[in-house]
Amino acid sequence: MTERQRLRAVIRGAVQGVGFRPYVYRLATQMSLPGWVKNSPQGVFLEIEGTPDLLETFLLRLEDERPPRASIQSLEYSLLPLAGFTEFEIRASDTAGARSAVVLPDIATCADCLRELFDPNDRRYGYPFTNCTNCGPRFSIIRALPYDRPQTTMAGFMMCPDCRAEYENPADRRFHAQPNACPACGPHVAFWSQDGTVATQRQDAIRQAVDAIRNGKIVAVKGLGGFHLIVNAGDEAAVLRLRERKHREEKPLALMAPSLSWVEQHVELSPLESRLLRSPEAPIALLRRKQGNGAGLAPSVAPGNPYLGIMLPYTPLHHILLQELEIPVVATSGNLSDEPICTDETDALQRLQNVADRFLVHNRPIARHVDDSVARIVLGREMILRRARGYAPFPVHLDNELPCMLGVGAHLKNTVAISAGHDVFLSQHIGDLETPEALSAFRRVTADLTSLYELKPETVACDLHPDYVSTRYADTSGLPVARIQHHYAHAAACMAENEITGPALGVSWDGTGYGMDRTVWGGEFLRITGDGFERVAHLRTFRLPGGERAVTEPRRSALGVLYEILGPEVFHRTDLAPVKAFPEAERRILAQALAAGLNSPLTSSAGRLFDAVAGLIGLRLVCRFEGQAAMELEWSLDEREKDSYPFRIVEAGPLVLDWEPLVRAVLSDLALLLPPARISARFHNALADMIVAIARKIGEPVVVLSGGCFQNRYLTEHAVQRLGAAGFAPAWHQRVPPNDGGIALGQIVAACRLKELDPCA
Ligand code: ZN
Ligand code: ZN
Ligand code: FE
Repeated sequence: MTERQRLRAVIRGAVQGVGFRPYVYRLATQMSLPGWVKNSPQGVFLEIEGTPDLLETFLLRLEDERPPRASIQSLEYSLLPLAGFTEFEIRASDTAGARSAVVLPDIATCADCLRELFDPNDRRYGYPFTNCTNCGPRFSIIRALPYDRPQTTMAGFMMCPDCRAEYENPADRRFHAQPNACPACGPHVAFWSQDGTVATQRQDAIRQAVDAIRNGKIVAVKGLGGFHLIVNAGDEAAVLRLRERKHREEKPLALMAPSLSWVEQHVELSPLESRLLRSPEAPIALLRRKQGNGAGLAPSVAPGNPYLGIMLPYTPLHHILLQELEIPVVATSGNLSDEPICTDETDALQRLQNVADRFLVHNRPIARHVDDSVARIVLGREMILRRARGYAPFPVHLDNELPCMLGVGAHLKNTVAISAGHDVFLSQHIGDLETPEALSAFRRVTADLTSLYELKPETVACDLHPDYVSTRYADTSGLPVARIQHHYAHAAACMAENEITGPALGVSWDGTGYGMDRTVWGGEFLRITGDGFERVAHLRTFRLPGGERAVTEPRRSALGVLYEILGPEVFHRTDLAPVKAFPEAERRILAQALAAGLNSPLTSSAGRLFDAVAGLIGLRLVCRFEGQAAMELEWSLDEREKDSYPFRIVEAGPLVLDWEPLVRAVLSDLALLLPPARISARFHNALADMIVAIARKIGEPVVVLSGGCFQNRYLTEHAVQRLGAAGFAPAWHQRVPPNDGGIALGQIVAACRLKELDPCA
């Protein structure tokens, strides 16, 4: 895409009163980019317009060439449709929304602190809690507002005279740095054996932790927003032991790399990806491995995965560990499978006792859990897949003003959100609400977000699904409840962050969501108007034998799809992998269940169609983690394959997108022994074609892509390109996850549009 776009950025940090606006003005006018810049209590907002290349250059230069005293603690940007600026101007400052400005996310260690950390002559040499006004913990240590030391988890540490002097000196980099500390007065680390006995403390503790990691031990390390489990990423036996103990069979593990140059050697790195990795937010970035460069990494770090999730050290403790180690480590969240991350050492000792061999802990309490964020670059834009450390609790800024509402999210990848004025504050990632621990984290975060900003929600927005624990929470809140259909919430979230008010065609594709007709939706096309939506098209439905079990067993989706077109005959097709995958006795039961429609709900889910194709070609019959089949189908595809599969559109009430010709074509390609890589590509191409075909039928110029399926890079890129080529204006997720992590925002936006509540007038 080469046509002009609008870049919108919010920059927070020491950027006010340091000549930042004149600097932005000079840079923009020098590059002949029209737009504006303004100050607000939340930071510096700017918008400029230009070609994608120029906008990218501007973005990279903006940070690199900033005024000496300006420090960027957060830079969030999105690319949006043109507004039509003709010149660049400095706009008058905003004064509204002051309260929200104070809660900053945790910020990766800045260059100045890093220099001190490794300077043998500095009094903070090797001190793992070094920080300053420009970096360090924030959200993870704040107990209440205003943000003053007694209201943080640093309250118990009395500053020594040296630290106090820095803290009180307006000319010092640590002037009013609330977590300011040094080896004489601040927190310290300790190294514990498996049973919690203190083995050693301070610098010796770090040395011992380094030795333990080198020797293949699993070390639970207390970090910024919780514990990591850390092992040597080059030690296959150690990584396997971690997987076994954590009950995490195949889901990819994140890496912390020793240096940027290690990353450059092992993965493809564009300038935007490099920026993302080095940004103050320091998320886990999904990066494509270099061909044939597996050297030094244990195969079970990310089995069969062409991408690696990599982050750079982001606290002084991580910097010291990695500097000593000089090798990449697996740094995965310190929890059991999908429970929330541990934040407290006694809790960690109990919950991780059968996972970790050693503990590297410290005595600065963590006020709230904050996981590592996950992001990737898609189509030259950031796409956040998990929004937590570095981003939470920053709001999404909207053009219209909202009443105070609480959005409680869905069930998986849960987050909650609360609105105030033009802002919707998104909580950090909470997780799947499957365990009592997760449910209490959900309650804690909800109460926390409300009390932190001193907001009193007037309405609670929740999912339409009656059995979600988040829905039940809403029902018992005592407040008016707005039930928002899942796929409408997906589309509404995507529209909100792209400044689209509608009408639009929402393409909401995911694994599952409760439909208006009580069936399982997931391959939906919604026409979104001022106050609601209409389901204008959907994928043809099929049965899921075994119901919920189909989520982890793609062979069941495959069977359901085949049954839909072949009928009971399918059970004789033992030449097909998903049929053969069931023993004969089980096949008989499945045949009866499908014939009677027992425990075989109907679904229009796109996620399950991915599963069905993965199962059909024998790529993945049973999953070890959520979404594995769809991911493997994407990873397997051969991008050189340009062919696509046929499909049919049936006009019947809402249009039905019939995949039968597609599945029949897959079957004949299978018979011809076409490689799975090419079948997968043809399938992906067909999905992109389907989206364009429905968009043409519906005729809404704006098309928004949302739902977990659009975490698939190939699908998103191809759908966007083909929609653009066909004259549509596609929009997709950037700051807010396309998966259920974005639902809470969508619920609030959709609830505001409801006529009967009429709160947005
Ligand atoms: Zn610093
Ligand atoms: Zn001190
Ligand atoms: Fe969803």
